[in-house]
Amino acid sequence: MKWLTGKAKAPADGLARVQSWMAVFFGEAHVTRPTDEAALVDALGTRPYSCIGQSHSYNGIQVIPGITAFHMGEARFDHLTYDPATGTATCGPSVKVLTLKQALVKHGRRMLNSGNYMEQTVIGALSGGTHGYGPEPVIAQAVTALTFLDGYGQKVTLTPTDPDFPYAALSFGTIGPILSVTLRTAPVASYQSDAWVTRLSKKAALAKGAMAVSTAIVPYSDPKDPLIMLHTLRPASKGKGPRKTTAPLLSLAGLTEFLLRRLWAFDRLFPSLRYRLQRAANRINPRTHRRVITAPDDLDYLYDPEPLLKTQRAPDLLTGFFATTFTAYNLAFFVPLHRSDEVVRFLMLEAERLRPLGFVLKSLIGVRELPEKSDLPFAGNFAGPVAAIDLFADVRDYAWLERLQRAVTSYFPGVRPHWGKSAIVEDFAGSLGQQHIAALRALHLKHYPPGTLTPNEAVRKLFDLGAPAAQSAIAKATA
Ligand SMILES: Cc1cc2nc3c(=O)[nH]c(=O)nc-3n(C[C@H](O)[C@H](O)[C@H](O)COP(=O)(O)OP(=O)(O)OC[C@H]3O[C@@H](n4cnc5c(N)ncnc54)[C@H](O)[C@@H]3O)c2cc1C
Repeated sequence: MKWLTGKAKAPADGLARVQSWMAVFFGEAHVTRPTDEAALVDALGTRPYSCIGQSHSYNGIQVIPGITAFHMGEARFDHLTYDPATGTATCGPSVKVLTLKQALVKHGRRMLNSGNYMEQTVIGALSGGTHGYGPEPVIAQAVTALTFLDGYGQKVTLTPTDPDFPYAALSFGTIGPILSVTLRTAPVASYQSDAWVTRLSKKAALAKGAMAVSTAIVPYSDPKDPLIMLHTLRPASKGKGPRKTTAPLLSLAGLTEFLLRRLWAFDRLFPSLRYRLQRAANRINPRTHRRVITAPDDLDYLYDPEPLLKTQRAPDLLTGFFATTFTAYNLAFFVPLHRSDEVVRFLMLEAERLRPLGFVLKSLIGVRELPEKSDLPFAGNFAGPVAAIDLFADVRDYAWLERLQRAVTSYFPGVRPHWGKSAIVEDFAGSLGQQHIAALRALHLKHYPPGTLTPNEAVRKLFDLGAPAAQSAIAKATA
């Protein structure tokens, strides 16, 4: 009755379906929402277990059938404190990114970076390698301490001086339950947010000197010089106010720009016109520029520079029904930054080649730049600056995205996985490095004897963590 009362009925513990975002991966597990630490420790002993945050990963990394699934995101580990002396925040596994941001802004603070959706748990987001773009782009880079339970129910706390720390801080279900994390924060600030509709060839000049750069590519425009929506952030400086250079709405260019900005809705209403609209936009070749100075207390300034949250402006129903967030499968991976333009061209050409087979990419190709290296071995940017490439498709078409991922990993060295959005396959072993795979495996085995914490099957295979879990299809088929 959520639609009538606005309140969802609290889900009951027991055997239930667990599934990934957009429900492409699913299975039955014994879902448990422990009320406190003692209940959690008690439940550890009963059968193999795993943890779920808010189930916002697309690739099923949170889905392990047949075992106990600790639904940490729906449990009551919601402690959240801010320490003004160190500028750090400490929170539990039920705390969502939105809740953390709302609490921080009251202290004039913000998260260092974040993804473009705030309903994930903070711990699920950092475990899955969630990132934004610009400085310190991967959320787990901000972690200064974390505490988890080992397979015997003992608490283990790690800080950056511990050699195990960088592995545990971004460990996608191989360490857990994580009970608490401490994160660095930064003072709130205003930014100059510039958005252009332009061509890829103009990006370098327009983005020069920006602290954060993200691009959305119109996938069926000209691969030689794609039509793009470019977005940059710079610290707000005196004398620079909002600005708008757009074509009048009633002109062809104005209408095209309007449609491009609302491609997510148009795409849903008229999917058969998806390709033709983009070809038309490519011919019309619109050019626009908007500048907004973001409000210091705006929680989603990275993705939506207008004041307030998108959900506070548009009726929820409209966003829920049309937005790419709720209608598309999203697959992502990281490519070396200096090759991102080539990868985009390759993806555009490959997508065009697949069109006669009935596949059309949905929405735009996202390219967020992570310009700094991270010390966390399983972060996208561990080996150096990268671009996070986001691809979208209708849910029934998700497997085509895996084919595109495979094509990119086979032609471009150094492609790294997004733990919540890539297809986790052995193609990534080379770029992750055998020594780091061995180190995480050793850390997992040190804390978790067989029959306790059980990561997702794809992770178990990549990290050689023993036979497939008993309830997996492969275990059943080969029993
Ligand atoms: C609409 C949408 C937008 C997104 N935008 C972005 C984006 O901008 N950038 C980006 O990088 N990603 C993005 N993502 C992906 C998402 O941020 C990640 O997949 C994230 O990990 C999901 O967090 P969650 O709390 O739902 O965790 P889940 O998906 O439930 O779990 C993720 C992993 O964390 C583990 N885990 C969760 N809680 C614990 C715990 N307490 N202890 C130990 N392990 C735990 C799980 O076992 C699993 O391995 C988006 C996803 C959606 C649905």
